[in-house]
Amino acid sequence: MHNLNELMHYKPATKALAGRNILITGAGDGIGRAAALSFAHYGATVILLGRTEAKLEAVYDEIESNGGVQPVIATLDLDTATHQDYLNLNNEIIENLGALHGLLHNASILGEMKPLGQYSEDTFARVMNINLTSNFLLTKAVLPSLQLADNASIVFTSSSVGRKSRAYWGSYAVSKFATEGLMQTWADEFEGTSNIRANSLNPGATQTAMRRQAYPGETPTDNPSAEEIMGAYLFLMSTDSVGINGAQLNAQIAKDT
Ligand code: NAP
Repeated sequence: MHNLNELMHYKPATKALAGRNILITGAGDGIGRAAALSFAHYGATVILLGRTEAKLEAVYDEIESNGGVQPVIATLDLDTATHQDYLNLNNEIIENLGALHGLLHNASILGEMKPLGQYSEDTFARVMNINLTSNFLLTKAVLPSLQLADNASIVFTSSSVGRKSRAYWGSYAVSKFATEGLMQTWADEFEGTSNIRANSLNPGATQTAMRRQAYPGETPTDNPSAEEIMGAYLFLMSTDSVGINGAQLNAQIAKDT
């Protein structure tokens, strides 16, 4: 049994993810990019989902030049994707890869940092759509692919403001609270009935574009890089986490975000 408070230091065996197909949203940048490279390093076939094709292609090239299994690119804007787009993705996974072993819901936007009384209605809706609703729609659509895996892991990305909200975090905090609720509902439905597990993960303060946007006055290097927090992501995608379902985990010892 692994100490769930020390997951930052988790290291899987070489090629522990070989034969596992893992879909990562927001795979072109930040934590999603690091997760894609890391999963591929441990042998996974990664499906790189994002809205900026050039960024996905750069990650694709990096995985290939590192000697990883050839990835798949899925260019999709989670704000505008249709039900049919998600169904097509599920069909392509089944046809080309056979099953889906991992789904990392990582893509999010920060929205505005301001009091709710001044918060734009449009931004509120857009943040909820990208950060929350897409997680429901994508999970629902790829359930058949996940059910075809011997065991499958869904990771929902939370935040410290998804567990205790703070002023000025607007619909980002609300979306992360709701993401925790979505995770718990799926997890309870999977419990004892399915080979699928669902958990949430708070990356904690990490050097990315989103962190710089939220904390412009901070020295970025005071926080770990995305590469340094991959232990928990690898743990949740590996078979070492089979049996862990409905947990709210942290990728690093808590700091704010
Ligand atoms: P980031 O650097 O801003 O990266 C976000 C990723 O999501 C980008 O690849 C972005 O694509 C993608 N994305 C945004 N909107 C999208 C859309 N409509 N359709 C498809 N993809 C979209 O953020 P990050 O810091 O890596 O954050 C990753 C996750 O960790 C998020 O869920 C965030 O809430 C959470 N988190 C981060 C921190 C932190 O300190 N960094 C702390 C707590 C939680 P483009 O690059 O093409 O825009």
